[in-house]
Amino acid sequence: MNFGTKLIHNGNEIDKSTGAISIPIYQTSTFHQFDIDDFGKYDYSRSGNPTREALENSIAILEGGDRGFAFSSGMAAISSVLSIFASGDHLIACKDVYGGTYRITSQFLSKFNVETSLIDTTDVDEVREHIRENTKAIFLESPSNPLLKITNFHAIIKIAKEHNIIVIVDNTFMSPYLQNPIKLGADIVVHSATKFISGHSDVVGGLVAVKGEKLAERVYFVQNAFGAILGPQDSWLILRGLKTLKVRLDQEQKSAAKLTEWLNEQDLVEKVYYPGLKTHEGSDIHFSQAKGGGAVLSFETKTVETAIKFMKNVKLAAVAVSLGGVETIVSYPVKMSHASIPKEEREKLGIKDTLIRVSVGLEDIEDLIKDFKIALEA
Ligand SMILES: *Cc1c(COP(=O)(O)O)cnc(C)c1O
Repeated sequence: MNFGTKLIHNGNEIDKSTGAISIPIYQTSTFHQFDIDDFGKYDYSRSGNPTREALENSIAILEGGDRGFAFSSGMAAISSVLSIFASGDHLIACKDVYGGTYRITSQFLSKFNVETSLIDTTDVDEVREHIRENTKAIFLESPSNPLLKITNFHAIIKIAKEHNIIVIVDNTFMSPYLQNPIKLGADIVVHSATKFISGHSDVVGGLVAVKGEKLAERVYFVQNAFGAILGPQDSWLILRGLKTLKVRLDQEQKSAAKLTEWLNEQDLVEKVYYPGLKTHEGSDIHFSQAKGGGAVLSFETKTVETAIKFMKNVKLAAVAVSLGGVETIVSYPVKMSHASIPKEEREKLGIKDTLIRVSVGLEDIEDLIKDFKIALEA
């Protein structure tokens, strides 16, 4: 089956006990045991809930994993996955990793003597040089935020396998429609389901897909022990949003390409970052491991004044953190997602005061461009 069909028919769309064509919201904390000698499949909703399970099975199938897990947020998913490691373990992560992941590795895991090296994973040699005897995992994001930098999964997974190192990929920006790292040999995929997977900016959640029963059992242990589970209501909302992932992204991607083309022609724009552009650094690598450029892009204006005026005058797009919704969302990293990083550090990462990030939604692109034009030229 192709991906669009799998979104609708993957064995988790019909409630087995009633035939309901929308998985019911099993809003229950516990389950009656009909036979004290023979417990049923479910006993307590932290350990397992049928609504959550339908979502967990779906993400496993869509990512090509053996098991899936749903958490109360993307960060709960990432923190829980990283909690399979122990004192004395060493991790490698890309240096422009999502801010919350940076916080967890630098201010939380460090307290438990799990050390993380943040490096430029777009440079394969740098990855090789940072591997130690106690390196247990490499955590990757590609394309990364907000400059859409591309990391070569094929090359890094090959190195990791030589050293018996687990590869974890945060696949939030691409979604399971456009990129499947497990199929390239990665071990664990994590998602902020808050973004493209749910797609409507109305729920916070996280998903994990794991390859291999043994590794999955370690993640399940943390999910059940730590308990950062996704509730049935939110599981249902994400199941609902997930069904339209392909059509949403197809449309958003088309619009992103058109918007990129238009931005490239504007005198007030200095540079556009979008993996779908042939001129984007690493674009060839990106298309060797993903099916499309996605719906997130960023651009630099020529002056800081233009960037600020744009942010103040844009009307159709929401000015917000987050991405992947049906509405276009623009954010100003230096004042929003990356505000806590000192200017000097930010500049080392290439995040300038003129940078604007756009998550393209489902508005008609002509309207969006018209709005962007007015805001840019304000
Ligand atoms: C939003 C996001 C997260 C965190 O997810 P939450 O659902 O906000 O906890 C992690 N990684 C990436 C790439 C994100 O965009």
